[in-house]
Amino acid sequence: MKTVCPHSCSGGTQDRQRDMTDGMLSKLPDDHRKAVGTPKRCSYCGCVYDSVSKRVFGKYDPPMGREGWHPR
Ligand SMILES: [Zn+2]
Repeated sequence: MKTVCPHSCSGGTQDRQRDMTDGMLSKLPDDHRKAVGTPKRCSYCGCVYDSVSKRVFGKYDPPMGREGWHPR
């Protein structure tokens, strides 16, 4: 299946690219929330990125139990 995650993870298909919850967004720095598009999160690898520019900001709740926000 085609993957669209900008982190190029093996499971980053379109249906795993989700809008972030308000709780998640509140943890991000201001300049990420005011990016070009809405921040999206790949639910497979945790990659957080701008939905328009595809610029990667970091990861949120990535696999292997590293919870929370991890700036790139
Ligand atoms: Zn991914």
